[in-house]
Amino acid sequence: MPVDTGDPAVDAVTTEWLDALRLSVSETYICPYCESEVDRNYRVQYVIRSCPECGGHGRFVHTVVAAALDEIPDEDRPEGWKEKPLDERLIAAVKAGLLDVADTRVPDST
Ligand SMILES: [Zn+2]
Repeated sequence: MPVDTGDPAVDAVTTEWLDALRLSVSETYICPYCESEVDRNYRVQYVIRSCPECGGHGRFVHTVVAAALDEIPDEDRPEGWKEKPLDERLIAAVKAGLLDVADTRVPDST
């Protein structure tokens, strides 16, 4: 889809740029503490890193995994669930057998 800015030179660059953007594979991970999001071009269940927003260091959970954690019914959630950061919820859920491996398998975008 060409971008129409009225300037052919600008059009050429922005069109190329948008196409590149569309083709790039990026995965979104959520800070366990402040829930700010970071994008990475690889796909794992979580990445361990420091957060540029809150300075916390921990496991940034993939959005698909975070969504699976969200879907665990209230009555099944381990003690203290709400107080736990996202990454500890992940560990607690796995230990309690609440998270099926299939739930956390990140689907292919293709
Ligand atoms: Zn953070």
